[in-house]
Amino acid sequence: MHLIEENYRRIRKQLDKNNVSLVAVSKFKSKEDITSIYNVGQYDFGENYVQELVEKYSALPKDIRWHFIGHLQSNKVKQLAPFIYLIHSVDSVKLLTEINNQGEKNGRIISCLLQVHIAVEETKYGFDEEELENIEPADFPFVQIKGLMGMATFTENTNQVQDEFKKLHRLFELFKMGNPRSTILSMGMSNDFEIAITQGSNMVRIGSLIFGERSQPAS
Ligand SMILES: *Cc1c(COP(=O)(O)O)cnc(C)c1O
Repeated sequence: MHLIEENYRRIRKQLDKNNVSLVAVSKFKSKEDITSIYNVGQYDFGENYVQELVEKYSALPKDIRWHFIGHLQSNKVKQLAPFIYLIHSVDSVKLLTEINNQGEKNGRIISCLLQVHIAVEETKYGFDEEELENIEPADFPFVQIKGLMGMATFTENTNQVQDEFKKLHRLFELFKMGNPRSTILSMGMSNDFEIAITQGSNMVRIGSLIFGERSQPAS
């Protein structure tokens, strides 16, 4: 069996046991790599760059559900609006407003997650707790806020990672009280998804553990 398919089957088994859904992160990976697991039942793929995503969308089967997980500039939303399945990385009201506008133009409600800043690293994007509380989903009728997303600090310190995921889970539970249709908590990547699952994640975004290391850096 192909190595990618083998990796995929192993991880999928582990996730299914925990009722966690998988977004296979395919940035910088070829259409052939994507197809190798699409053919055995993986339909959710995540990308970080608009241009790359649009090209793959055009070339690959139309029943793939494309997730956008990278930092998104407002002026690029219109390229994704007609087809994107879920935008994980909504990190400002400005972006939310533009997604709403493009949803209206395209006659569709666009599903989104709000990205929350939980890491100590300044470089990571996202709302803080107070900003999150001030978002009024009813102001964005062409957006469906499906839940929250976050990235932990990149560190060997598993206690810290666990605490950050725990914090996000708490915010998710609070957010859900006011927004009962928000059911997705997207947290966990190749190096920390097992910790994320113990802290209540129900969607993980895994790239290198399935497809192997990327030849280009992720950002
Ligand atoms: C690249 C990326 C991932 C996947 O990273 P791996 O370590 O390869 O699993 C997940 N989430 C986001 C936001 C990413 O940018």
